[in-house]
Amino acid sequence: MDPRDTVARKRDGGALSEEEIRAFILGFADGRVSDELAASFLMACYIRGLDGDETAALTRAMVDSGRTIDLSDISRPTVDKHSTGGVADGVTLVFGPLAASLGLGVAKLSGRGLGHTGGTVDKLESIPGFRTDLSPEEFERQVDEVGCAIASQTADLVPADERLYALRDATATVASIPLIAASVMSKKLAVRSDLVLLDVKAGSGAFMKTVEEAQRLADACRDLGRTWERKIRAAVTDMSQPLGDAIGNALEVAEAVEVLRGERTGRLRDLTLDFAAAALAGTGGEGPDDARARAERAIATGEAAEAFRRVVERQGGDPRVVDDPEGVLPTAPVVRPIHTDRAGWVTAIDAQGVGRAAVELGAGRKQKGDPVDPAAGVLLHAKIGDRLESGAKIGEVHARSEEAAAAAALAVLGTLEIGEQAVEPPPLVYGWRES
Ligand code: URA
Repeated sequence: MDPRDTVARKRDGGALSEEEIRAFILGFADGRVSDELAASFLMACYIRGLDGDETAALTRAMVDSGRTIDLSDISRPTVDKHSTGGVADGVTLVFGPLAASLGLGVAKLSGRGLGHTGGTVDKLESIPGFRTDLSPEEFERQVDEVGCAIASQTADLVPADERLYALRDATATVASIPLIAASVMSKKLAVRSDLVLLDVKAGSGAFMKTVEEAQRLADACRDLGRTWERKIRAAVTDMSQPLGDAIGNALEVAEAVEVLRGERTGRLRDLTLDFAAAALAGTGGEGPDDARARAERAIATGEAAEAFRRVVERQGGDPRVVDDPEGVLPTAPVVRPIHTDRAGWVTAIDAQGVGRAAVELGAGRKQKGDPVDPAAGVLLHAKIGDRLESGAKIGEVHARSEEAAAAAALAVLGTLEIGEQAVEPPPLVYGWRES
């Protein structure tokens, strides 16, 4: 089978067979199919789309490009959680340790930043010493003993996704429902947890800009879950503005620590509690109110923060990050405040624009393989519905240079729409889907 014929068939709008997709993806994973050809394949898939059978074949081939992990020996109920990508989306950083402190086992394969969105692996690697290249054996043992392990895809686990993910980021082929569904679900299917929780983002900072598109992505993921007979709960959630306040790797870790220590309220904490409650309800049948109350208690008693300490320590990171994030995490040489120049109500935020400003500062990658600057990023405290007074400080830029900081502050100000009329904040969750 010549892989060029596969690309040509998709380019011309044809349907691909399972064998063709499998040969192409496995060939790409082991280096026989070039990046150039794979990039054309991705663009053809992006433009022409993939039907349900093709998406299932792509997902299967991606899973089969590496090993799988069967968590059946783990003594805890196992949960996996994944976001389709957002801005200031630190839910996984908080959810993993929180769920561990509730007796669950979180087995999480994560990605790096993609486009304007951050990635959990990049965020955690801003903690000095933290390693995410766990072997499947280390990964499994840690889930059992610590209750949470967060690893990157490696040569062992879904290597095809790791390579495709980086190539999609570099070739403007990220925002495709079948490509995202296959990428997300390949990582979820390669690890056999009892429950998969998906956070499908909708809005200006998400790959899916509308709630309807996000619902279609949630349905595509749920259908893949059904094909593999896996229990999935998918929420379509708001990404019409950054979820938390911090955008950038070390800044997001520091914010997650504040949430875990019970020092921060707001949308990031609320959404994480929703997921923790869904995890307890989905694995143990606990009622949603009891489950949520238990998750809140784990934060209030400090158990969730202690679970984070154990995860960091076990993965080689400096555990003092839980006590003194600012002292342990890398800091930027330039910190510049952002002040508004207008008074009024925040009516909209271009969250993608905020994410792009952070990427420009070095918090994300413009090209495959670029290093990220762990200290760079933006703090934006303004949210839709807030009243701003002219001259008020609404955030900070953390940068390598004054020039970069000034450009980013301007870019962030340009993402805010300020109106004369008060508006309601958008809902946090639009609805749940289940397999
Ligand atoms: N998250 C993933 O794992 N893959 C994507 O393609 C997008 C978000």
